[in-house]
Amino acid sequence: MTKKWVYRFDEVDAAEAAVGGAWDDVRGLLGGKGANLGEMTRLGVPVPPGFTIATEACNQYIAEGGQLPEGLLDQVAEALEAIEQRTGKRFGDAEKPLLVSCRSGAKFSMPGMMDTVLNIGLNDDVVKGLATQSGDEHFAYDSYRRLVQMFGSVVLGHRDELFEQVLSEYRRMRGVASDSDLTADDLRDIVDRFRRIATAFPEDPKEQLRLAVEAVFRSWNGRRAIDYRNAAGIGHDLGTAVNIQVMVFGNLGAGSATGVAMTRDGATGVPEIEGDYLINAQGEDVVAGIRATKDLTELGAEMPEAFAELGEIAAKLERHYRNMQDMEFTVEQGTLWLLQTRDGKRTAQAAVRIAADMADEGLISREEAVQRISPEQVDFFLHPQLAPASRHAAEGEGRMLGKGLNVSPGAAVGQVAFDPDLAQRWHEEGRAVLLARPETKPDDVHGMIAAEGILTSRGGRTSHAALVARQFGKPAVVGMAGLEIEPENHVMRVGSVRVAEGDWISIDGTTGAVYLGKLDTFVPDLSDPWLVKILGWADGFRRLGVRANADYPTDAQRARAYGAEGIGLCRTEHMFFEEDRLPIVQRMVMATNPVERREALDVLLPLQRSDFYGLFEAMDGLPVVIRLIDPPLHEFLPAWEELIAEVADRKIRLRAADSLESLDATLAQLEHAERLVDAIERLREANPMLGLRGVRLAVIHPEITRMQVRAIIEAACDAVAAGFDVKPEIMIPLASDAGELKWVADVLRDEAAAVLAERNATLDYMIGTMIETPRAALTAGQMAETAEFFSFGTNDLTQTTFAISRDDAEASFLMSYLQLGVLHDNPFATLDDAGVGTLIQMAVKAGRQVRPHLEAGICGEHGGEPRSIALCHGYGLDYVSCSPFRVPVARLSAAHAALER
Ligand code: PEP
Ligand code: MG
Repeated sequence: MTKKWVYRFDEVDAAEAAVGGAWDDVRGLLGGKGANLGEMTRLGVPVPPGFTIATEACNQYIAEGGQLPEGLLDQVAEALEAIEQRTGKRFGDAEKPLLVSCRSGAKFSMPGMMDTVLNIGLNDDVVKGLATQSGDEHFAYDSYRRLVQMFGSVVLGHRDELFEQVLSEYRRMRGVASDSDLTADDLRDIVDRFRRIATAFPEDPKEQLRLAVEAVFRSWNGRRAIDYRNAAGIGHDLGTAVNIQVMVFGNLGAGSATGVAMTRDGATGVPEIEGDYLINAQGEDVVAGIRATKDLTELGAEMPEAFAELGEIAAKLERHYRNMQDMEFTVEQGTLWLLQTRDGKRTAQAAVRIAADMADEGLISREEAVQRISPEQVDFFLHPQLAPASRHAAEGEGRMLGKGLNVSPGAAVGQVAFDPDLAQRWHEEGRAVLLARPETKPDDVHGMIAAEGILTSRGGRTSHAALVARQFGKPAVVGMAGLEIEPENHVMRVGSVRVAEGDWISIDGTTGAVYLGKLDTFVPDLSDPWLVKILGWADGFRRLGVRANADYPTDAQRARAYGAEGIGLCRTEHMFFEEDRLPIVQRMVMATNPVERREALDVLLPLQRSDFYGLFEAMDGLPVVIRLIDPPLHEFLPAWEELIAEVADRKIRLRAADSLESLDATLAQLEHAERLVDAIERLREANPMLGLRGVRLAVIHPEITRMQVRAIIEAACDAVAAGFDVKPEIMIPLASDAGELKWVADVLRDEAAAVLAERNATLDYMIGTMIETPRAALTAGQMAETAEFFSFGTNDLTQTTFAISRDDAEASFLMSYLQLGVLHDNPFATLDDAGVGTLIQMAVKAGRQVRPHLEAGICGEHGGEPRSIALCHGYGLDYVSCSPFRVPVARLSAAHAALER
């Protein structure tokens, strides 16, 4: 028995049985479109009859080098016959002509990336029958010219412009704007002209269908489809299904229409049906953006019954799929037909609002709402927007060029490229590019992905440009009236304003405005009420705490506003690099004895105290982990080469000095530079990252530790006195031995006790350690005898576990490793579960054996990365700590981790 390749839309049960019942597998077999056509048929939604050729047939066709699988054509003929019986029409028959469409449809939607042929079944004979039968010659020849045009370009590979040129010639000749205003005679002539271009067009309808099916199969491996799959992470081995369906006609006069509708607004998520349509047109006219489409709300006035029915079907489909739907419909002489439904593409803002609304409406659970939002979508809220002050100039930079449709929000600033290849090249050179096109086509996708944002002069909300931009989170403005883009002349114009390729422009995908010049951007706050809701629900589901890595009070405030539950890492040395402090820090570093060093530290003390006070104030009631100084001291000194040059320069000036004052001044500068050189030479190490840093600094220079501890405890006492609830956690970096840890902890406790005695105060504080070396992890039980908490510094722990330099590896060999597939992930970006993860798990377990309530968190960069966060959840850590800007993402990811388990 030959394999079943073909499933009628009313055979979705059989398809389900063939794959064992799972809907996802039905989609794999029939493609998303085919599966949904079957499902809509089952639901009783009006769908024109048809059938689906399974994806397996496409895969076999490709594997066999372009051979149709055995039995396929027979099954197609059989399915066609069934349709003929149902409709009372016959394929290829002039009396009662049956026309079909042939559309691609992969498991995952790839809008416009593959091929479609409509009106199959027409030839010189049948078209006459269609004219008689419909009583509309115009319609018959319009359908025929569409078939020859589509078949000619899609199947036979003629350039579409050849056909478009003929059409525009006729439009010009007749002085009309739209093809639908051409006469039947014109259309007949146009068909003749088209047939002279597409000379291989077959008269035999069966042959038309066979060739169209093969063309759709082949389009799976077309360049634009491959580009799209690469960008969207869709597998190349899935293949496309082919849907053959009875044509219904939106171009049968004024009582007919065709359009697309979304059950909710795909840009904002507002729960109202939205879309575009055209009266007396076929589907491709809407998507191509050639004719100006009408807003769907107008259909309510023009065709109230069809509009009402569409609304009911929209609600039914949304309830059934429990997701926002994107539908294609046609009204044929008053009768509504649904041609497709699929989960609608949406912006990040819309996704968040739709998920929150659907949970509130009881359509999905809150868990599901949280799970439907991706970390990238939350991240989008942190993307730049145009700074309000930088817009609205009357002239030049910041002048508004005009407004188009705001189809994908966010600001994009870049140099205009009118060609997708150029956009890609500039992007690879590291330039910010804005792709501007009259309209985009699937062939442009590589340029769209490379661009910061997209601008088109034509097209609507559901145009190709809008859909692709939304999916990839690219800001986009489309259909900008008054904008003329001339790619061949490398220029675009709005009135008298001329913008050349390479000039800077800025677009605001949220408002649709387009500006001249390179405008400033800012990052919005996260006050979107639906996002607040989703993140609030996420907080209820997650087990992991989320803290922030913050060094300054302003960072801490932002982190708290974003939902951080404390500071997981304050790198105190960052404060040392402040302009007013560096000279003092350098004095401390250059000191050759403890007295000199203490003098410098005395100056630093009040500065650090006020830094820490600011952190405690911002984090009132929440824990604040403050880490003692970590980097090797030479990092605070200027570069050796610079100093040597300075010494040489001062020596020359010394000889040239022409006054006592300048001699004195130069001498002092020379001495200072020489002392710095001495200090550097004294501190020089072959492997500074394995040298005198971290805990070792505290052992060798306890006076630095004492100053920092004093600053922390004094600030905490001051903050308590001011009414704040402080929870200091003092952290010792890079320890790898319990002895050194205890040594420093003793110094630390001694100093803290001294401060508290001076102040006659008491204070709860914790002392803990970072786990940043394999030895620390291996001896975690011993470490936990001193440490009251662990924080995994996975930047260093990755470096020390792999023995790969975190500073150099990416530039030297790591990228090649990833390209070659030697490593699958960059271990500095995604936590290495097998190695570093094992150490973490061992350390947590050993530590908690000694100290059951040992607090354990992570503060390396991995703390903000979704996959690593899921691992940390599994390791039983108490919290992750990440940059303030990643805090919302971490809250969501931690909830995902908890919900998945
Ligand atoms: C770490 O090593 O992971 C860490 C947080 O410390 P730093 O990045 O400052 O070395
Ligand atoms: Mg570190």
